[in-house]
Amino acid sequence: MLSIYNTLSNKKETFERPKKGQIKLFVCGPTVYDKTHIGHARTYIFFDVVKRYLSHLSYKVIYLQNITDVHDKITERANQERVKPLVIARRYEKYYFAAMKKLNVASVTKYARATNYIPEIIKQITILLSKGNAYIIQNDGIYFDLKSFPEYGKLSRRTTEQAEDAISRIDESVSKRNKGDFCLWKFYSGEISEPFWETKLGKGRPGWHIEDTAITEKNFGPQYDIHGGGVDLKFPHHEAEIAQQESASGKKPFVQIWMHTGALLVDGKKMSKSLGNFITVEDFLKTYSPQVLKLLVLKNHYRSPIDYSDRIAKEALIEWDNILQFLAKLNFVKKINKVSKTLSSDIETLLTKFYAEFNGAMQDDFNTSKAISSFHLIINEFQKRIYSLNIKEIKFIEQRVVNNLNLLGLEVKLPKIPAKIAILGKKRELMRSNKQFIQSDDLRKEMDTLGYTIEDTPLGSFLWPQKTSK
Ligand code: AMP
Repeated sequence: MLSIYNTLSNKKETFERPKKGQIKLFVCGPTVYDKTHIGHARTYIFFDVVKRYLSHLSYKVIYLQNITDVHDKITERANQERVKPLVIARRYEKYYFAAMKKLNVASVTKYARATNYIPEIIKQITILLSKGNAYIIQNDGIYFDLKSFPEYGKLSRRTTEQAEDAISRIDESVSKRNKGDFCLWKFYSGEISEPFWETKLGKGRPGWHIEDTAITEKNFGPQYDIHGGGVDLKFPHHEAEIAQQESASGKKPFVQIWMHTGALLVDGKKMSKSLGNFITVEDFLKTYSPQVLKLLVLKNHYRSPIDYSDRIAKEALIEWDNILQFLAKLNFVKKINKVSKTLSSDIETLLTKFYAEFNGAMQDDFNTSKAISSFHLIINEFQKRIYSLNIKEIKFIEQRVVNNLNLLGLEVKLPKIPAKIAILGKKRELMRSNKQFIQSDDLRKEMDTLGYTIEDTPLGSFLWPQKTSK
């Protein structure tokens, strides 16, 4: 039974299969004005796993993500570079897609650019105006009236009075009815660099929150199953989304389950484009493989913050290396212990336990951290007897471990031992068997300087690269 922690109710809830059998999942996409960093990656790696695991449970998932391609931060950057805002937006959208591709975060069904939804945005704002939830400030913009939605704050548990502390520039106006009122549509000020659309509500651009509800209403309708994003978006962004959509449609709840990932921090501060304390995905991948980043993310509970440092990247690298080394050793033994015997019952029992632990963890609010611990338990268990396993047992173990790694989006690519190293290994083995220990030690040293270690096992030498991050 799958349970998911719902930020709205503040507790884990049993996930009820949607009536139509399909799960509609929306996750806030990036504001494209700079390169994608590993903080973004944390959120998207996790939701990629959510989609993978839900699909594994035989749910059909439609995963929608917006791209915020109109925003004052994009305009600011465009002004700095003296180009049009869309040049910036398309450039960094491209970076984002490239980063996700490198990480094999490939589960989004549909991306929706905000600028492709201007008619839907206008439609929603028109409804909000007609229902008295929005009001016009001449020569300024159209604002959502927080007093018209008494439930404002139900997701973040903040009051309307506290709403004022998270306002971005577009939401500022001295003529607003309430300090926390947020902008739905900003009228064109005449500033040459400002993007605008000619609409029946006037010439202008959309506020940030309205794009998401316009996109989801068009694709999913007024209500859907799961909304995800980083915890930084809970307030005011998601709170504003609830206010807009529930006011516009009158249907509640707008979203069944709200899921929020914890922030990736650096020295206690959120990694962010605006603070400039970020490591891009591109840069991270110059040193480490995508699997290391994924493991670093997933070994932490998704709701907990991660304090990023080079130390934790190195720890993840070692952990991933151990998993790969175990699988490589299985391969190594498989080539020698070729006789296919029966599967011993205790191995079957251990693997069943491994499966149960992995799935139990994943069904308990996608506890990837616990799911990853289950790999270490099984590896420790089989490590002790690895050289006595027969081919049938090895295939069975391999398949189970690789399947579960794949469910977490972790792909197994075993490092290839170059022919030159393999030959040196064989030569050394021969020397050892001839008791030429000095020469054999010299060869070990030579291989060491070439970046390979040798482990003498009951089945011969097992060779392994010292650095498998790339
Ligand atoms: P943005 O482009 O800043 O709007 O962010 C896009 C998505 O990435 C949102 O869901 C954010 O919550 C998430 N995000 C941004 N920075 C971080 C971070 N440091 N840690 C975790 N998630 C983040």
